[in-house]
Amino acid sequence: MLTATDPHEELRTAVRALCATFPAEYHRRIDREHAYPEAFVDALTKAGWLAALIPEAYGGSGLGLAEASVIMEEINRSGGNSGACHGQMYNMGTLLRHGSEAQKRRYLPPIAAGELRLQSMGVTEPSTGTDTTRIKTVAVRKGDRYVVNGQKVWISRVQHSDLMILLARTTPLSEVRRKSEGLSIFIVDLREAVGSGLTVRPIPNMVNHETNELFFDNLEIPAENLIGEEGLGFRYILDGLNAERVLIAAECIGDGYWFIDKVVPYVKERIVFDRPIGQNQGVQFPIAEAYIEIEAANLMRFEACRRFDAHEPAGAQANMAKYLAAKAAWEAANACLQFHGGFGFANEYDVERKFRETRLYQVAPISTNLILSYIAEHVLGLPRSF
Ligand SMILES: Cc1cc2nc3c(=O)[nH]c(=O)nc-3n(C[C@H](O)[C@H](O)[C@H](O)COP(=O)(O)OP(=O)(O)OC[C@H]3O[C@@H](n4cnc5c(N)ncnc54)[C@H](O)[C@@H]3O)c2cc1C
Repeated sequence: MLTATDPHEELRTAVRALCATFPAEYHRRIDREHAYPEAFVDALTKAGWLAALIPEAYGGSGLGLAEASVIMEEINRSGGNSGACHGQMYNMGTLLRHGSEAQKRRYLPPIAAGELRLQSMGVTEPSTGTDTTRIKTVAVRKGDRYVVNGQKVWISRVQHSDLMILLARTTPLSEVRRKSEGLSIFIVDLREAVGSGLTVRPIPNMVNHETNELFFDNLEIPAENLIGEEGLGFRYILDGLNAERVLIAAECIGDGYWFIDKVVPYVKERIVFDRPIGQNQGVQFPIAEAYIEIEAANLMRFEACRRFDAHEPAGAQANMAKYLAAKAAWEAANACLQFHGGFGFANEYDVERKFRETRLYQVAPISTNLILSYIAEHVLGLPRSF
């Protein structure tokens, strides 16, 4: 919560001020029209918030993951949906930590200036799902190019991005010692690729989230677009996924506070049986419980940020933060919808929209079960189940 001792108070105030210029009606209309919040994303970009993680030497503000997460949290707390632009934050991390100096010089300054968007990351595939190391999209080196064939699904913001980070297999699974080896990541210039080996098919879905099926048919990528060393892509992507989990935890925390901020005044004012419904403990307790869980998730989120920014292992904390925050936001969403009664279902209250938006994070970018499995096996040392 915003307190006098909040080290991010100044940052929060500035992001809130910008978000306040895009009122609930704006986000409601974008949702209703299944549109992309172009003006909102442009304003965030111009203000430099989406370049928070880019070092000053490349034109960004050189902030850490903690600050980046506060930006995402405030967007969601304001009633917006960071899902339209959060890709830019975590994809940047992959380029920053593993890209060559030439790649950073080429891409980061125009991204920081808002001339180029890096909003997309292509990992998930239809036939392998969460079993990422078995992906079937292949990139085969031919001279100074890689030729990509395969298929991806649920790849977001492709229609509103210039660049995409792509995970593909460069050495067949049968030829590697460990299944996590032989995968590589590339920067794909979507402006050149779409129509020249890459086909994009949008997927209408429950949330207003621009996401797509991708079909690669002999797409050629310059070899210089390989990030880091060939075959080490899975390791690189894991780092990026930890950042993604922390940022999404922060978005869920923003959602959670939004639901609490919405439901508390409502239950104080809504009179049924001659008293405010918020006077009933049956109403108070689910709200109090959700609030406690949001606060707890917040602590884990900042611990994950601290570790990530200090280059310490952060996998466990990033996963736990995402788990706690997604669950807390969902419980807050349920309480908020429930205690608005019928009004919770009316579009003009925004509760149903935020309810749909926050539900996504139990499944994506990693499902709750897979987090439990990670903690069981990698933190508690229980036998592997797959
Ligand atoms: C709106 C949206 C946007 C997305 N954007 C992107 C994107 O930009 N880039 C990208 O690469 N991907 C993206 N995704 C994909 C997302 O990361 C996956 O949907 C998610 O990781 C789950 O994978 P899956 O859908 O293949 O589910 P599956 O792997 O088929 O799993 C289905 C369910 O089965 C359960 N399950 C699976 N395996 C186990 C197990 N071993 N133990 C217990 N339970 C298990 C889980 O509950 C899981 O939710 C997006 C998805 C959505 C819905």
